[in-house]
Amino acid sequence: MHQIILQGQSQPITVGKIVCLARNYVAHAKELGNEVPSDPVLFIKPATSMIMNGDAVVIPDYSDDCHHEVELAVLIGKTAYKVTAEDAMNYVSGYGIAIDMTLRDTQAMLKEKGYPWELAKGFDTSCPLSDFVPANKIKDPHDLAIRLQVNNEMRQDANTGLMIRRIPETIAAITRAFTLEPGDLILTGTPAGVGRVVAGDRMTAEIEGIGTLQVDVR
Ligand code: MG
Repeated sequence: MHQIILQGQSQPITVGKIVCLARNYVAHAKELGNEVPSDPVLFIKPATSMIMNGDAVVIPDYSDDCHHEVELAVLIGKTAYKVTAEDAMNYVSGYGIAIDMTLRDTQAMLKEKGYPWELAKGFDTSCPLSDFVPANKIKDPHDLAIRLQVNNEMRQDANTGLMIRRIPETIAAITRAFTLEPGDLILTGTPAGVGRVVAGDRMTAEIEGIGTLQVDVR
């Protein structure tokens, strides 16, 4: 079972799918030389990619360039299909910290061939997650400091207010195609500063009001 903790709930929550946004912060799209898209670029990580605070990311043997991408994770609390942006926040039950671990060399090869990204984004251990806090504890999810350090060196230091597509519009866009179910997660994209990690590194991610997430790399 692939489960997260929502603070204040006695039972853990089983995660279904993890729907992720690419290129949702201007400065990050530019650092990778990508266009800022007019429609959301979506991909899905399987629940088997999850690890928790204190676990370790294991870099697959087919990659030599594994990157960190710290992201605000949104927990869905009710089944959502074709939801309007106006109504979308009623389906959110919590917020957490995620690191969208990405094999940049594999992704570049897949992009060049026009292939899907799963080998670069969905491998086992590619989705470290923190515990989640209830949505009502976060006044404004679009005004949170978001940071990631590697071995105590600051790599990513931004604010969720820099997101291009905000959470209500993201939920509306996703649910045009996919039903979101209780326990599904949305990863809202990463700010600038992504970079390589190697075996032996320690990543510490932090989002204001949520807490910290620490994972090692093997
Ligand atoms: Mg990402």
